[in-house]
Amino acid sequence: MIDLLPWHRAPLDELLARRASLPHAMLIHGKQGIGKVEFARAMAQSLLCESPEHGIACDTCNACGWYREGNHPDFRELVPENLSDDDSDADASADATDGTKEKKKSKEIKIDQVRELSSFMTLSTHRDGFRVLVIYPAETMNLAAANALLKTLEEPPPRTVILLVTDQMTRLLATIRSRCQRILLASPTAEEALKWLEAQNVLKPATALAMAGGAPLDAIQFADRTYQTERQAFLGVLTDEQADYVAAAQSFEKSDLVNIVTWLQTWVADIVIAKLAGQIRHHVDHQKEITRIAARVELPKLFRYESALRQTRRSISHPLNARLLLEQLLISYQQAIR
Ligand SMILES: [Zn+2]
Repeated sequence: MIDLLPWHRAPLDELLARRASLPHAMLIHGKQGIGKVEFARAMAQSLLCESPEHGIACDTCNACGWYREGNHPDFRELVPENLSDDDSDADASADATDGTKEKKKSKEIKIDQVRELSSFMTLSTHRDGFRVLVIYPAETMNLAAANALLKTLEEPPPRTVILLVTDQMTRLLATIRSRCQRILLASPTAEEALKWLEAQNVLKPATALAMAGGAPLDAIQFADRTYQTERQAFLGVLTDEQADYVAAAQSFEKSDLVNIVTWLQTWVADIVIAKLAGQIRHHVDHQKEITRIAARVELPKLFRYESALRQTRRSISHPLNARLLLEQLLISYQQAIR
């Protein structure tokens, strides 16, 4: 049987028990980082499997083999170009090191991609089994793509299940939402999430889970060793009263700026919450330093810095001069906490 995220088992059992009368379109929604795409894939494989065990894919039959290899004829995923594994664009791959690859690849699901599904949708399925289409993030369908999909949602071919996955349901067209049955995937409890993270050999699972706002799949990323080493080094700069910000900016200029700004934002948020409510939400492993800073800061200064960070965040993907930007962020930080 396939490996499932433990908190997926019950909702999956419940849906697969209705295998014979499943709605043809389901909108799987819920919090970010709890594995909604993994849930949709587990459901897809279980529907395609030739000998499911208690409804769940066996992972050993022919159909499961094709699914794992990514060539089951009755399965497709519809994703924006920037999330697709297809690197056939040689130029884009060659430029990957300087980050321009993402710039070239579309973040939207386009109408051509929906149209390309027409033969997949009309051909008869292998042994008259299910045909499954997974779409994520569903909110990235542009208007034309969404409208093209509407036709399929209105008159789906037989034995077809379309699974749309989103964590931003309000960004979906109302006409799409109304044609799908909504499946709210519940978040795991903190206990379930911690237990799972421990089983993945995650370092400091409680810290990682807090950093990720309780979302275990995001926590895995936060727990990544290099990420944590870099984070600790950067937070070290924030807690060092004598830090040389020019040198610090230089040493972090090659880092992922989105991470850096996220650390600054969550750090500042922690100082605010520590000041107002005596709690720490994100960087729970730096409680002492945050409390110390919170004791002396003036909130209005911090709020101004917070809004400057938000603005930076919006324009962060291609800064002209990363080192200069970092230097400014750190100097303003210093001013905000003095
Ligand atoms: Zn199977």
